[in-house]
Amino acid sequence: MREVDPRRRVPRTDALLADPALAAAAVTLGRDLVKAAVVRAQDRARRGELTPEQVRDAALADLPSRTPRAVLNATGVVLHTNLGRAPLAPSAVDALVAAAGNTDVELDLRTGRRARRGREALDALAAAVPDAGAVHVVNNGAAALALAATALAAGREIVVSRGELVEIGDGFRLPDLLASTGARLREVGTTNRTTRADYEAVIGEYTGFVLKVHPSNFVVTGFTSAVPVAELATLGVPVVVDIGSGLLAPDPLLPAEPDAATTLRGGAHLVTASGDKLLGGPQAGLLLGDADLVHRLRRHPLARALRVDKLTLAALAATLYAPTTPTRDALHADPVRLRARVERLRDRLGEDGCKAEVVPSAAVVGGGGAPGVELDSWALSLPERYAEPLRTGRPAILGRVLHGRLLLDLRAVPEVADDRVRAAVLSVGD
Ligand SMILES: *Cc1c(COP(=O)(O)O)cnc(C)c1O
Repeated sequence: MREVDPRRRVPRTDALLADPALAAAAVTLGRDLVKAAVVRAQDRARRGELTPEQVRDAALADLPSRTPRAVLNATGVVLHTNLGRAPLAPSAVDALVAAAGNTDVELDLRTGRRARRGREALDALAAAVPDAGAVHVVNNGAAALALAATALAAGREIVVSRGELVEIGDGFRLPDLLASTGARLREVGTTNRTTRADYEAVIGEYTGFVLKVHPSNFVVTGFTSAVPVAELATLGVPVVVDIGSGLLAPDPLLPAEPDAATTLRGGAHLVTASGDKLLGGPQAGLLLGDADLVHRLRRHPLARALRVDKLTLAALAATLYAPTTPTRDALHADPVRLRARVERLRDRLGEDGCKAEVVPSAAVVGGGGAPGVELDSWALSLPERYAEPLRTGRPAILGRVLHGRLLLDLRAVPEVADDRVRAAVLSVGD
């Protein structure tokens, strides 16, 4: 008997659309999109690229993913820009969900009148930093700087030290951003040294403000000097400080990291920062400072283009009220406890015949701040061949490969996820 041509055995469209997984996908993605994927998979089978048995899975694999892939951050980099920086606190996640529908974001339900947009978030920020006369929130740290430059220095000069003209990452250069607002950059000093006299020499009628930028991703050491905020504040022009990381108050663990409260108390007129770095919240740009400056920013037409949505405002308010955040917990995790977690993981993997080792690791804060700071940490060490299956699994687990080993540093992995790490490692097998 002749074998039936496999191309004749390609499953029919209606049979495929009735498959539970494809039918479930049609509920969220729509039938047209799922059908198109089915037709593409059938065509591939007719061309002999797939067996008839592979058609269903190929159609499923061809569907667009509805949500971003969850990743467990075992890199030892607490704030990993490629992983979306700060993971949100549970209360911030709840707030996001609550804000997804219609909310009172801009309405006072008692009076029925329009109210200040995002007042919970603004009140929480003002309460967290009483030194600020007023606060405002925009889309991200770069937007905060762009708004300050546009509103306070367009057509005028921003005086900035050459040592602070930084590239934040992915080609984002602060000087380019500032120049794009129509302000002129007036560079003073040199890469390693800038003095008060350098600033004094250029300050004049064209000065919009003096900008001080925290170099958040590198350190300059050796023969250096910079002018502290307190001294810049006596130059007679507004001083804007980009602290970057969003620490609102000092953190003893990160003594070199500037914070909003101390910077304002030191005399800064305006502080800008990100919401999703050390603050541990959603992507946002924070502006804190003298009430009159903040009001000028808020009233500037550009402010409308940079305004944050209700989801961000809800998550930011919840973050500011949360007793702690995953970012803070990861930063302050006790190395003794981390070691015990990694040893327990190793022992339990050992019971299932998987041999892993426990090794010390040096974690870092990451692009979000504190360059040069190393945090004592512990990692599970596995053969390098585990890296790819773990990275492409669900959840994806991202570690770091070093000298032929995959290191899973648990500092930024929530403890509740240890069982999932164990299951994922076991599923890789031999
Ligand atoms: C991260 C950073 C920025 C950019 O902030 P985004 O929120 O990423 O836009 C600007 N300045 C400094 C000093 C930073 O560290």
